[in-house]
Amino acid sequence: MIYYEIICRYCRQPFKLEEGTTKYMRYKQRRHEKFSCDDCDRRIEDDSRKYLFDRE
Ligand SMILES: [Zn+2]
Repeated sequence: MIYYEIICRYCRQPFKLEEGTTKYMRYKQRRHEKFSCDDCDRRIEDDSRKYLFDRE
């Protein structure tokens, strides 16, 4: 399995971008871009859903 290990922009924990995933492809093209780990992605998604829900 090929992967890059990078630091999450939010929790600052190292995580792996595995070959074949969308993030891996993006990282290959734009290495200066900051990425977030799956846990943070999920948290942010939940938060934004909550935020949208609160506004209704
Ligand atoms: Zn994270």
